[in-house]
Amino acid sequence: MASVTEPTRREPAIPAKPTVTNFPATKSLTNEIPANASPHFPIDSGSDSPHSITDEPTDEDSVARRLVILGTVLFPLAGLISAILIASQYGMVRWLDIVMLVGGWYLTGMGITIGYHRMLTHRSFETVSAVRGFWTAMGALAVEGSPIDWCMVHRKHHQFSDHEGDPHSPHLHDGGMLNQLKGFWHSHTGWLFNSNWSKGEREKYVPDLLEDKMLVAIDNHYVSWVTASLLIPAAIGGAATLLTPGFSITSIAAGAGLGLLWGGLARVCVSHHITWSINSICHIFGSQDYKSSDDSRNNIFFGFVSHGEGWHNNHHAFPTSARHGLKWWQFDLSWVVIRTLEKMGLAWNVKLPSQKQLESRTLD
Ligand SMILES: [Zn+2]
Ligand SMILES: [Zn+2]
Repeated sequence: MASVTEPTRREPAIPAKPTVTNFPATKSLTNEIPANASPHFPIDSGSDSPHSITDEPTDEDSVARRLVILGTVLFPLAGLISAILIASQYGMVRWLDIVMLVGGWYLTGMGITIGYHRMLTHRSFETVSAVRGFWTAMGALAVEGSPIDWCMVHRKHHQFSDHEGDPHSPHLHDGGMLNQLKGFWHSHTGWLFNSNWSKGEREKYVPDLLEDKMLVAIDNHYVSWVTASLLIPAAIGGAATLLTPGFSITSIAAGAGLGLLWGGLARVCVSHHITWSINSICHIFGSQDYKSSDDSRNNIFFGFVSHGEGWHNNHHAFPTSARHGLKWWQFDLSWVVIRTLEKMGLAWNVKLPSQKQLESRTLD
């Protein structure tokens, strides 16, 4: 287990603040990750302190912020529990609700994995602006934070992974079962309430993203995306009732309520806990196939249910790789989509580790 007093940085700083223009837009087949690749993201060379650059109390520490986060964690959970109780007690659930739950989870989940994570945070491929906007919007609908903040936190995670400064490592609470449980809770959900990440770190971690006007526009309207994420399934659920004979105001309201519960809140809850499990479970349970300087793991269950993100040791070993499931049997739905986009000519500069790079990091 890593001690909090160990060296705090594993990656060299990039000497200058890159911009999106540093990454050539030429179309090509899959690109090997450059041998001298600097970290998988641009970080301003100004500071390698693991601490937030904002020492003074800010809005990030406010009670209001924590209440908003508490609501974001608890309302979806309450929605999921309510949906199950209503279905089991009154039989009130439709196929449409299940389709919205599963379909919405896949779409918005891949908004996180393809959009927020591989495309924006690690820039593992480039694509046309319509596709970039689509996956970013899908990610915003997952209600896991605005795109720029999400990427900022995740780049910080990679910079300090499982060492002091990592916003959500499970390994920074030393000794004993109780501390291990505390570490698990911190990595899964507790970190959201801590001030070990702050909007004040945007300039340091995501300067390239701040120059992307479309991304900033989506980010600025994040509350609207959250609202839409709940209202769209409610509207579909209510409108579907109009197709049933003898509909009434009451039945429309009930249909909208079921849509909100299953397609909105329950779907957000499922997405939340699967993503957070990558931070918690996939840094504790599973196998390590590659050297990665942290405790990241390949977890078969989450490899399949998280659209490929559970091959997390592979990802920490090769952060810029667009493909996380590096072995033939490691199914990676997000990679299937990115590869399909590439074959259609809609994605390029798709980064993959070479055979030599794979061999150099393989653990015996
Ligand atoms: Zn990780
Ligand atoms: Zn990552």
